[in-house]
Amino acid sequence: MLFAPTIAGSLPKPGWLAETEKLWPKWKLEGAELDQAKRDAALIWIKLQEEAGIATVSDGEQFRTHFVHGFLETVEGIDWNLKTKMGIRNNRYVVDVPTVTAPPKRSRPVHRDEAAFCRSHTKNGLKFTLPGPMTICDTLADGHYGRRADMAMAFAEILNEEALELEAAGCDVIQFDEPAFNVFMDDVKEWGIATLERAARGLKCKTAVHICYGYGIEANIEWKKTLGEEWRQYEEIFPALNASKIEQVSLECANSHVPISLIEYLSDKEILVGAIDVASTEVETPEQVAAVIESALGHADAERIQPCTNCGLAPLSRAVAEGKLRALGAGAELARKRFG
Ligand code: ZN
Repeated sequence: MLFAPTIAGSLPKPGWLAETEKLWPKWKLEGAELDQAKRDAALIWIKLQEEAGIATVSDGEQFRTHFVHGFLETVEGIDWNLKTKMGIRNNRYVVDVPTVTAPPKRSRPVHRDEAAFCRSHTKNGLKFTLPGPMTICDTLADGHYGRRADMAMAFAEILNEEALELEAAGCDVIQFDEPAFNVFMDDVKEWGIATLERAARGLKCKTAVHICYGYGIEANIEWKKTLGEEWRQYEEIFPALNASKIEQVSLECANSHVPISLIEYLSDKEILVGAIDVASTEVETPEQVAAVIESALGHADAERIQPCTNCGLAPLSRAVAEGKLRALGAGAELARKRFG
C-alpha cells in the first residue's frame, strides 16, 4: 500500500492505568492487576490504530513508563542507587542519573511477552521500539568503561539480543529511538551509527531509527530557540545514516524547522514522514496531513514515504491522540487518492 501510515511509538495511557498527560506517569495499580491493565490498554490502542487505518501499529508503550528506563529497569550492571550528576543532551539539562558499574547484562527478556501479546491481537504490521545505544548512554553515567563509545557498544549487544527475540515474537519493524542524534553530530558519525548497526545485527525484519528534537519540555523549548530559523543539524548525519544498514528513518516534518529538502540525503531509505505535530493539542485535518506528504514528495519517491507522527503522542490527552491517529489515517488515504 502506498503511504502506509505508522506511528513513532508512544500513546497516552488511559486514566485508569496511570497518571495522564505526564512524561513520567505513576501507575495506578500494582502486581497482577497492573499487568492485566497494561494488556487491556495495549489492546484498546491496537484496535483504535487499526480503525484509524494505521498499517503498522505499536503497543503505544503501554507497558512502560519511560522509553529508556522501561528497557533498562531489569538490566544488570546499572546501580540505580548510585546517582551521578550529568548534563543530558550536551548539558541542555542537568539531572541525577543512575551509574553503570559493570558490563550490562539482560537478566531476562524485557519486552518479548508484550510483543507476543500484541502479535496475537492484530493482523496489521507490528512495530516495537527500543531506546538506541547513544540515547541510553546519554541517560546513564559511565562508572566502568571510561569511553562512551565502548559503553554504547556494550548496550548495543544486549539491545541486539532483545531485538532478535522481539523479531521471533512476530514484530515486523524494530525501531531504535535516538533523540541524541541531533546533539552529538561527530559522535554519531564516529560510533553512533556503528552501535546502531550492532543493535540491529542479524535482524530480517525492517529496522528503523527515530530521530527527533524532543518533547515540548521547558529545557527543550529553550534549546530550540538557540537553533535558529532553519534546523540543519541532520545535514551532517544524513549521508552517514543513508550509508548505514538501517532501513527506515523517522523524523518530524509537521510544523518543523527542519527543511524538508534534507530528506534528499536519505535517497536509499524508507522515510517515516512526521505529519502529526506532537507539540500541539490541535488535531490536524486530513488536508494538513496530505500537505506534509505532498511536500515530502518533492524530495523522495512516493514508494519510500510512510506518513507517521513527529514523535510519541504520550503526553497528550487520550481524545487528542485519538483524533490525531484518525487524521493521520485519513490524510494518508487522501494522499493516496491525490498522488497515487
Ligand atoms: Zn521523538
